[in-house]
Amino acid sequence: MTDFNATRAQFQLPEGIIYLDGNSLGPLPKSAPDRVAKMMTDEWGKMLITGWNRAGWMAAPAKMGDRVARLIGAAEGTVVLGDTLSIKVYQALAAALALRPDRRVIVSDSGNFPTDLYMAGGLIDTLGQDHRLVTPAPQDVHDAITDDVAVVMLTQVDYRTGRLHDMATITRRAHEVGALMIWDLAHSAGALPIDLTGCDADFAVGCTYKYLNSGPGGPAFIYAAPRHADDMKPALAGWLGHAAPFAFDPDYRPGVGIERMRVGTPPIIQMAALDAALDIWEGVDMQDLRARSIELSEAFIAGVEAACPDLTLASPRDPHGRGSQVSFSHPEGYAIMQALIARGVIGDFRAPDILRFGFTPLYTSPQDVTDAVAHVKAVMDDRLWDRPEYKTRAAVT
Ligand SMILES: *Cc1c(COP(=O)(O)O)cnc(C)c1O
Repeated sequence: MTDFNATRAQFQLPEGIIYLDGNSLGPLPKSAPDRVAKMMTDEWGKMLITGWNRAGWMAAPAKMGDRVARLIGAAEGTVVLGDTLSIKVYQALAAALALRPDRRVIVSDSGNFPTDLYMAGGLIDTLGQDHRLVTPAPQDVHDAITDDVAVVMLTQVDYRTGRLHDMATITRRAHEVGALMIWDLAHSAGALPIDLTGCDADFAVGCTYKYLNSGPGGPAFIYAAPRHADDMKPALAGWLGHAAPFAFDPDYRPGVGIERMRVGTPPIIQMAALDAALDIWEGVDMQDLRARSIELSEAFIAGVEAACPDLTLASPRDPHGRGSQVSFSHPEGYAIMQALIARGVIGDFRAPDILRFGFTPLYTSPQDVTDAVAHVKAVMDDRLWDRPEYKTRAAVT
């Protein structure tokens, strides 16, 4: 059994705070500051540019890729780190479309995170080949996958509601019609067990600063199935994805396999933080993680529904149909969240009316859930949200 008290002890959690926003930004692993300081002092400070070879910086994106691969059911050598998720979405979609040159339809869903849809729109404009992006409601995606579809690109866990797509079923449907499947695992990696190999996905992307705790701006990851490794074409043909970057060849030749999805110089300081964060996952069994996540979120739903009839569950009621977050809706959602944050319960708000709470078993305890429910009850019973200062929206919600 995974020892969740032991994993919790490895995070820096500020006194008096109940942190239910690890689905947006994971907290600081206690070992990360020293790891980063060591990288800076012993590697950057002493080795200067020789660190690219001597400290293994150049190999870090693939090495970290193998560590992340274990958490998403991918084989070694199929995942690489770098850039941000928006960039990785663009790369995966461009590569997938190039593998289906005779088709023009991209299926996503109306619940997808805006940047994924914006990147698709931007790519369509750049290609200028009349591709079409269709975004049915999440429950209608399966039926929208018809035999003119080139690529299905979905985020497995809906960022607003936590609704979970069935990866195996939808991937099978995509393949039945000859389409390729891209999964965005932004709210899945580190949140629940994922089996990329088993579900036969073509591409996957995700970020490391949410459930994987690499810190703000931590690098994203991209996965490609081994069958595409040698024929996928990188749209962002950066020098570090070249087969021989230091040949400084005027002509581009893609690197081996997933290495070609690298673009430019990797963020080595941030990789050090990620490396420290991934150590915490070494003893974690993903089935235990899922069981704990369900236990925490079910307790939260039961507590809030019993205490706060004005809050409406906006997530699927069946825990197996949810990721690791729970959302409630209320017209005054923004002010309610501000009042909760003022009391030390940090979740977040997503327009137009969603209060979002992430349950991250590595450091969220059953006691946190009990305490959080009591705070939500106090805020609702006493209308503590009904103050002008809680209604003025900050830039980041
Ligand atoms: C968090 C998130 C992103 C963020 O993209 P960045 O480029 O890292 O800012 C993108 N897509 C989804 C689905 C997300 O949940």
